[in-house]
Amino acid sequence: MNPNTTKRLNNGKQIPQLGLGVYKVPAEQVYETVKNALELGYRHIDTASFYGNEEGVGKAIKDSGIPREEIFVTTKVWNDDHGFERAQEAFAKSLNRLGLEYVDLYLIHWPVPTIFPETWKALEKVYKDGAAKAIGVSNFLDHHLQELARTQEVQPAVDQIELHPKLVETRTINYCHEKGIAIESWSPLGRATYLDDPLLVKLGEKYKKSPAQIIIRWHLQRDFVVIPKSTNSERQRENITVFDFHLDERDMKLLDQMDEGMRVGSHPNNVSIQK
Ligand code: NDP
Repeated sequence: MNPNTTKRLNNGKQIPQLGLGVYKVPAEQVYETVKNALELGYRHIDTASFYGNEEGVGKAIKDSGIPREEIFVTTKVWNDDHGFERAQEAFAKSLNRLGLEYVDLYLIHWPVPTIFPETWKALEKVYKDGAAKAIGVSNFLDHHLQELARTQEVQPAVDQIELHPKLVETRTINYCHEKGIAIESWSPLGRATYLDDPLLVKLGEKYKKSPAQIIIRWHLQRDFVVIPKSTNSERQRENITVFDFHLDERDMKLLDQMDEGMRVGSHPNNVSIQK
């Protein structure tokens, strides 16, 4: 495995299993953050219209000189842009802000009740038009996916959900595995709120890695796509240096047992349409 190890999505497209998330990276800082990550070897960037930093992401990609097809770019439709027409307009605006001709993955950011199946029709359209190479959802639990399945023509390629050792959404993961939907972990480090956990520290000592690297390795070995965020060059490097060790089965089980349903973000059943 190397930093550009990819995973095959259900439509045949490859996604780098490790990427950089840029939530809460200020617009004025995102250019340097993404530029640095690309120099370190990251080839997958996760943004959203809600993050307000798509322009800087697109500019850093352009200025990197790396061929466009070597970088995987994800963005998302925000909660107040749901609906067939509005979502298509939102997509066009995102593409324009990114300065790209296509995105690799377009996601519904949150399952805004009752309207998300209509929004999905817009995503199916941009997918069929070729302007998004894959489409998926975010924050969909198994019951949201079941509701979507009643009217969808295209199966989501990805479900991006909050996922880290203290929050393992087993039912949703099982449903996605059954349907061939890739799981992508957001806040994969639990927003760094429990990196001092004794088990993580102990495993870090055992493998000569940091607690963050232990967690990222756990995601990779669970076959999740993982997008840790860091604006710090050293931590970006640390987060990508996870392809030179392997957690044994017993330690994977110990990490699985950390699950206590602890959220650092909102619950998908409580979606607000406010910013
Ligand atoms: P993460 O779990 O990635 O944690 C980020 C925090 O951890 C930052 O404070 C960062 O600080 C710190 N950090 C990063 N690396 C290390 C390290 N090696 N050691 C110690 N601390 C570290 O949380 P996010 O919420 O940012 O999630 C990641 C990405 O997931 C987002 O950026 C976004 O792209 C996506 N996301 C999607 C959501 C959705 O609804 N679809 C919701 C939330 C996030 P520093 O920057 O200073 O290094």
